[in-house]
Amino acid sequence: MALEFVYAQPVKIYFGEGAFAKLTTVLDECGVKRCVIACGRHFAPTAEAMKEKDSRIAAVFGGVEQNPQLSGVIETTRLARETGADAVIGIGGGSAIDTAKFAAAIALGDAEAIAYYHGEKPFPEKRLTIIAVPTTAGTGSEVTQVSVVSHGSEKRTINNPAFMPKAAIVDPVLSSTVPPRTTMNTGLDAMAHALEGYWSKNHQPISDLMAIEAVRTILENLEKAYRDGSDMQARANMAYASLLGGLSFALPKTAGCHACSYPLSEDYHLPHGEACAFTLDSFVRINADERLELLCRRVGLSGTEELAGRIAELKKLAGLRSRLGDLGEVDLDKLAHDCAVHGLMNNNPVRMDEKALRAMFEKLA
Ligand code: NAD
Repeated sequence: MALEFVYAQPVKIYFGEGAFAKLTTVLDECGVKRCVIACGRHFAPTAEAMKEKDSRIAAVFGGVEQNPQLSGVIETTRLARETGADAVIGIGGGSAIDTAKFAAAIALGDAEAIAYYHGEKPFPEKRLTIIAVPTTAGTGSEVTQVSVVSHGSEKRTINNPAFMPKAAIVDPVLSSTVPPRTTMNTGLDAMAHALEGYWSKNHQPISDLMAIEAVRTILENLEKAYRDGSDMQARANMAYASLLGGLSFALPKTAGCHACSYPLSEDYHLPHGEACAFTLDSFVRINADERLELLCRRVGLSGTEELAGRIAELKKLAGLRSRLGDLGEVDLDKLAHDCAVHGLMNNNPVRMDEKALRAMFEKLA
């Protein structure tokens, strides 16, 4: 078959240990005059200290939670509107970056956040500049046009060019304080991005290359970063793999494993990475084909069975929930139904209907 694809990647990426110190230069380059920062509690004191030093930082919203709520978007948007900001900086894991993206996309609009969330209003044509600074090695949100935000128990992924950051600063040093379990959750999220980008029905050759390198790097470094968070070489390699993971799914989008992660987070409250990891080894077996065998050989594995086994071992090492019994009382009919109807399931190379998903989950009983 003739080779044909479209590839684009608009984010300017600054990568390296200590790269965070370039924030001032990045603000200059992006022409930022006034900005707000969205971050979680972990980073809030640093952000407040930055605000004291740089008069361009007008306000800080330091209350972003895991699986971020729309209320955090509303607060960040209010600060951006009140201060007349021209940029929003998201510093943190995917939760903080996605909050910043959403606020930047709607700040110049005239409607409430809920109207954009429910798709009742189109996103405004003009938006604020987005600068993303990841502090976990997992989501790749710094290079995607996706924002994942919850409203109550509903968790919604919105895909819109308005969410694309202008610049990303990936400094592995910022991830050195991530606790071991979150290191494993987020690292397996990056693995899921690479594998799903690779097996997505919309995969393409440049994304494939980055996916293979991401999987190889994660297999070599995730356990090291989990066991010793101060191992900066492992942290740096994981930050790089997470970035590659983001780039490898940004265009092809994710598939079955991510589709299943939504009900697992909404109804059983698993953090995003743990929810992806829950079915990742199952999907490696389900989606096993010649292409996936090729990926396995390129990363030094004997085949898909070994890949599935390595993922299961990493989950076990960190004590991640991996059996239905770990979730409490499970409504299997609802779980299989909700996974089957999620839009991302259409990207999975093997058709997975409710019956097939039920059978997959029954094997995890
Ligand atoms: P997170 O942002 O929820 O952070 C997890 C926890 O780690 C939080 O308590 C946070 O405060 C803490 N934390 C973050 N950095 C830290 C650090 N350096 N030291 C100590 N603690 C730190 O987790 P995440 O996995 O990075 O992001 C998950 C969210 O991102 C989910 O909502 C998920 O759906 C979304 N997501 C978005 C995309 C995208 O493309 N936009 C892709 C994948 C996932």
